[in-house]
Amino acid sequence: MIGVLALQGDVREHARALEAAGARATTVRRPEELERVDGLVLPGGESTTMWRLARTFDLLEPLRKRIEAGMPAYGSCAGMIMLADRIRDGADGQETVGGIDMTVRRNAFGRQVDSFESDVELTGMGDTPYHAVFIRAPWVEAVGDSVEVLGRSETGRNAGRIVAVRQGRLMATAFHPELTGDHRVHHYFADLVRRATKQED
Ligand code: GLN
Repeated sequence: MIGVLALQGDVREHARALEAAGARATTVRRPEELERVDGLVLPGGESTTMWRLARTFDLLEPLRKRIEAGMPAYGSCAGMIMLADRIRDGADGQETVGGIDMTVRRNAFGRQVDSFESDVELTGMGDTPYHAVFIRAPWVEAVGDSVEVLGRSETGRNAGRIVAVRQGRLMATAFHPELTGDHRVHHYFADLVRRATKQED
């Protein structure tokens, strides 16, 4: 069973995309609910709100502990920010859950344009480019040695920015695969959760 962190953001779209990818999905708002899932999606939305609510609901520490203990997690957009060990342009005092050894800049593309679509080649997710939707998206400015870059932006003056990464059982995209009907990213994550549950890797 894969949980979707349901504090704020496009929770339902992720749950539907996971189900379309053959996984079972449930919402996670409380520490007890977090205990029961095999993997977690942190959706897009607003990372400052998500952080404040996670603190209010006493979820920050439980999230950190489960991720440290090896729970697979996938963060999209605001969720990518939540999984970053370091952020730039965060709100005052903004904390993350962390887990991925990367520096993510909030609203990075948004200084030029609020939202845009671009094709992205994603490693390990088929031969055709992925049509990605970016909404006030972050980008990844720096990654540690253990982080694999899965995709980079391809259009405009910001071409070449890192927009998809994986570090072991953790992955993140700056874009929103739950909005396009192309479920390759959710398939990839559901497979990762299945293998982790069977302890294959
Ligand atoms: N800009 C948002 C943030 O900083 C993320 C936007 C999104 O998730 N679509 O959290």
